[in-house]
Amino acid sequence: MKVVVANELGFCFGVKRAYDLAISNASSTTAIIGQLVHNQDVQNNLYEHGIKEFEAKGNFDKIILRSHGTIKKEKEELLKSYELIDTTCPILLNIYNKMIEKEEEGYTNIIFGDPNHPEVIATKSQVKSCIVVNSPEEIQNLKDNLYFVTMQTTLNYQKADLLTKTICDKFGNNVKVFNSICGASSKRRKSLIDLTKEVEAIIIFGSKNSNNTKELCNILKEKNFPYYFANDVFSLDLSSISMYNSIGISAGASTPDWIIKEAVRVLNDINNKDSIDLGENNVASDKIVANNDPIENHESNKTDASIPSKDTVTDSFNHNDKGESTMINENEKVSTETTENASNNAVNEQDHAEMMAKIDDTFTRIKRGQIVQGTVLYVTESQIMVNINYRSDGIIDRDELPTDLTDPRTEYKAGDQIDVYIVKVDDGEGNVVLSLRRIKDVQAWNELEEKFEAKEPIEVFVKEQTKGGLIVEYKGARAFMPASHSFDRFRRDLSSLVGETVKVEIIDFDKSKRRCVVSRRELEKARIQKEQDEFWSGVEEGQLRKGKVMRLTNFGAFVDLGGVDGLIHITDLAWNRVRDPKEVLSVGDEVEVLVLGFDREKNRISLGLKQTTEDPWEVFKNNNKVGDVVKGTVVSMPEFGAFVRLGEGIDGLIHISQICREHIEKPSDILNIGQEVEAKITDIKDNQKISLSIRALTEPEEEKRERKPRRERAPRKTANENKKEEKADSNPIDNPLIDSEILGELKKMALNLDDNTSEGEAAQNSEE
Ligand code: SF4
Repeated sequence: MKVVVANELGFCFGVKRAYDLAISNASSTTAIIGQLVHNQDVQNNLYEHGIKEFEAKGNFDKIILRSHGTIKKEKEELLKSYELIDTTCPILLNIYNKMIEKEEEGYTNIIFGDPNHPEVIATKSQVKSCIVVNSPEEIQNLKDNLYFVTMQTTLNYQKADLLTKTICDKFGNNVKVFNSICGASSKRRKSLIDLTKEVEAIIIFGSKNSNNTKELCNILKEKNFPYYFANDVFSLDLSSISMYNSIGISAGASTPDWIIKEAVRVLNDINNKDSIDLGENNVASDKIVANNDPIENHESNKTDASIPSKDTVTDSFNHNDKGESTMINENEKVSTETTENASNNAVNEQDHAEMMAKIDDTFTRIKRGQIVQGTVLYVTESQIMVNINYRSDGIIDRDELPTDLTDPRTEYKAGDQIDVYIVKVDDGEGNVVLSLRRIKDVQAWNELEEKFEAKEPIEVFVKEQTKGGLIVEYKGARAFMPASHSFDRFRRDLSSLVGETVKVEIIDFDKSKRRCVVSRRELEKARIQKEQDEFWSGVEEGQLRKGKVMRLTNFGAFVDLGGVDGLIHITDLAWNRVRDPKEVLSVGDEVEVLVLGFDREKNRISLGLKQTTEDPWEVFKNNNKVGDVVKGTVVSMPEFGAFVRLGEGIDGLIHISQICREHIEKPSDILNIGQEVEAKITDIKDNQKISLSIRALTEPEEEKRERKPRRERAPRKTANENKKEEKADSNPIDNPLIDSEILGELKKMALNLDDNTSEGEAAQNSEE
């Protein structure tokens, strides 16, 4: 038995969104009011995830609101006590907005649909007043007024046509009709009709309370096509199904994947030698093929089963209902010939076309590649829904957002007016596929065309280097710049331009082929010439100029001063000795230099970098003198001594003999490179030579300790001198050999003695 799965079936985008929202908020304190979608399996799955049925006394913090909308007042009341997870389908939210807007414009809202359907009840509650119309008779009872009509999203097209024709005939231009039947439902219907051409019977999976599922059954009933309607594969009479050579599978928009997968698996098992055709576009198809486990017990049911007629269904869905007999819709060409009541109730094709035209007239006509303005309806982290005043809204998915936009909520909000690009008029769910990314691209190419024709330069961002040139971007549109056009002169390495924004002119352009070739060469030459002219007319010796280091050589650094390169000779880089310019500068450094001289004829400029700072020699000379003690760092040690850095560009020499008192073979016996030392300045010469001595700091103390007083040999004395000596011996104060200190003491003592002697003599004299 061949099993064929419809191209469009199961969860629509609104239901999937609702389910995902509910699951992502599932917890023991999350509750749901009613069914999230019209499917008990989905509901049971939510319970398995811990979500509870709402009770007023329950301990809940989050309440999930169902996908088909909540009565406005109920929502407002709940909001006072709970955090609400509102899963209302965005398509419904858009309908609400349109109704509110029209009410403000003076229209009275009408909904075509079942007044008891929860979606219609919730929709009606969003505006101050709203009439629900379910039959042409009810329209006849309406008073003259301005009316704005929306439709239950799952309303069948026959009914929609009939009611639209009736209301337009009665109120003419006073009525505006918004076809809000959801495209997801209509796509499932079309897909089902396609399926009838491929298989002998079809199984439709879904719940009895799902309107769009019932609509699928209606189509088959009206086509007199054998079908089954079941919640899941296990409630089917598999023995009767196994008699078909081919069976199709379809499902309503609220039927979950797992029901469909399970059905395919089981049906495949009935005759696992038969092939399974899952349909080219079926999202679930590849997963289903992989799921091929045999299931026991069903095999035995194959015998004695007969092929069911149109009335043989596994569900109690009423086949004899007298609903509208035909649906005449471009997308859904259900044959009226097979329907018993077709001739009585059919809305002929011409009428339908007129009707759709009337509806369409109230909305924008769109086509692929067009740019239209729309209003943002809502924004999620990966999607923007936009009303473009078309019968369906448009969706901008993540892929179609600008590449640099990580979260659209940061840039867009509901109510924003934006331009959008139409990628597809119908995405298969009835929505228009829109793009923001492409609109930028289209706008960029249009602008490029204008600039090319006007020969106007543009600014481009250099994205990357490729073989032969650079890839550049203009507002997202890619263009190419050949290597030979990237600089004023040919350069092999173009990497310095990557990441830069540069000015270019378009030299070759073809919008239809998306080809744009740009050049920077001529603009660059002109820019450089202009800068050079400006430079030469303003340059003066002694001027300070800013520039960028472009090149380093062993004799200095070339600096771009703006179209003109100047040289800082190695001796003008720093006040201290420089062995390699790399010690001071790197390519790309921004520097301020002093113009030392220039020759315009020879195009030469000599620059000084060290001259932009004070001469450290002058500073040193002003602050230091011979005899001062200074600190410095040993920077080199030739054999004859050690050079000590006293400041930038100021070195002093400690001769080897001045390092210490003892004899040393070489300076490194005592000192190390990098060592901090203290030394006395022993000489400062005008040729910037400074002599230092460490020994001078240590010598006096050592010598004091170590030096013994030297006794000088006494010269031969004359007889006179000998006499004097004798006299001096008798008076030690006059002895020249006595240390002056001692001599001072002796003199003091002598004075005392004299005083004492006088006093003693006086006393003696008086006694006498
Ligand atoms: S059928 Fe349409 S309106 Fe209903 S939930 Fe799905 S996408 Fe939304």
